[in-house]
Formats: sequence, C-alpha cells, structure tokens
Amino acid sequence: MKAIASNMTMDQKLVLDIEDVVAVRLECGTCKTAILISPLDWKETIKQCPNCRSLWMDFRNSKPPAACFIDGLRDVIEEARLAKEAAINGIGKQAYRVRLEVQRPS
Ligand SMILES: [Zn+2]
Repeated sequence: MKAIASNMTMDQKLVLDIEDVVAVRLECGTCKTAILISPLDWKETIKQCPNCRSLWMDFRNSKPPAACFIDGLRDVIEEARLAKEAAINGIGKQAYRVRLEVQRPS
C-alpha cells in the first residue's frame, strides 16, 4: 500500500459572540496612531486623526462605511444583550445569534 502525501492545511478559525466585542480599533494610515472605540459608547464621528489631523471620515457625500459599521455593531450588541436578558428572565427567547468567524492569528 502506498502512502498518499497530502498538502491539506488546517484552517483554524475563532468564533466570537458579537456581544463579546469590546472595541473597534481605528488606526491612522499616515502616522499609525490608534484609538479604541467602544461600540456601545459610540456617539460621535471621528473625522480626523487625533494626532496628525489626517482626514479619516469624510461625511460630505454620505456616512462613511466605518461609521455605519460601528453604528450597526452597537445596535446588534444591544439587541443581543436584550434578547439574552429576556431569555434568562423567561420572557422570550433569543431567536438568533450573531457571531463573527475570524482567522486565528498565526
Ligand atoms: Zn495620524
């Protein structure tokens, strides 16, 4: 019997509950300064880098995708927390869960 060599690789992924997301990291493409934004505390937009003042989010034509993403993330986390609370209190059930699947860092 001949052994068959395989080039198969294992893709390892992490699955995160959306309500476990504690921050979104915004990093400046110019000076690499990074800031962390808690989705639940997100109220204002970040138009420019707090360090070098490079333009980050341009609101002239429409809401930037990053701002839409953080808005949506906040709403999904709040909805998930309310549904989980209702399920714990026996007054409802969590109809679905939002989870993120990401590549495991190498
Ligand atoms: Zn910067």
